[in-house]
Amino acid sequence: MRGNEFFARWRARRRPSRTVWYQLYATIHPETCEVCLHHHGRILDRAEGEGTPPLHPGCRCSLLEFPGSEREYYREQERRMRERAQAELRRRRLFREGEEALAARNFEGALARFRESVQIDVFTAEIERLCREGSGKEALEAAPEAARKLCDLFLKAYRWKHDLPKYRHMPERMRLERRDHGLRVIRELFSPFVDDSAG
Ligand SMILES: [Zn+2]
Repeated sequence: MRGNEFFARWRARRRPSRTVWYQLYATIHPETCEVCLHHHGRILDRAEGEGTPPLHPGCRCSLLEFPGSEREYYREQERRMRERAQAELRRRRLFREGEEALAARNFEGALARFRESVQIDVFTAEIERLCREGSGKEALEAAPEAARKLCDLFLKAYRWKHDLPKYRHMPERMRLERRDHGLRVIRELFSPFVDDSAG
C-alpha cells in the first residue's frame, strides 16, 4: 500500500502543468463591494463554480484567461492588484473616519483623516455624499473655515489625481475635461458653505 501511495504522489507531481489559468478583475471604485475587492487579482484554475464571478447579484467582475507559461507574470500582477484593493479599503475607512470626526465637530481630526484618504484617491460621489447628507452637511454649515480647508484639500487632490500614471493612457483633452468637470463639481458642492468658492 505504502509503495502505491508513493507512486500516486510521484505521478501527481509529474502531471503536466495546467495550460490555462484565470485572473479575477474587480473594478477599483467606491461602488465596488468589499467582497469583490477581496477577490481582485485572485488566480483561479476554473472559469465556473465556486469563487468565480458573479460573486453576488449585480457583480461586474470579470475573468481574464492566461496561459500557464505566463503564470509568473500574473502572480506579480496579483500581488499589485491585491495591494491596490487593500489601499482602496484603507481609503474608504479613512474617509468614513473623516466623516465621523466631522460629525463630532472634530475639525482637525477630520482634516487629518481626509488628507490621508485623498493621498490614496478621491471620488466626487463621496464628496457629494459628505456635502449633501445629514451630519456632515450640518457640521460644514457651522464651520465655514473648516469647510474652506476641506474644499481646498479636495480640489488639490482632484488635480493631483489626474496626473497619476493610471490616467496617462487617456487622451490629454479628455483627461483635462474630466479633471475640470470634477473640480467644478467640488466647488459647487462646497459653495453653500464657503463665501468665495473660486478655489
Ligand atoms: Zn464582483
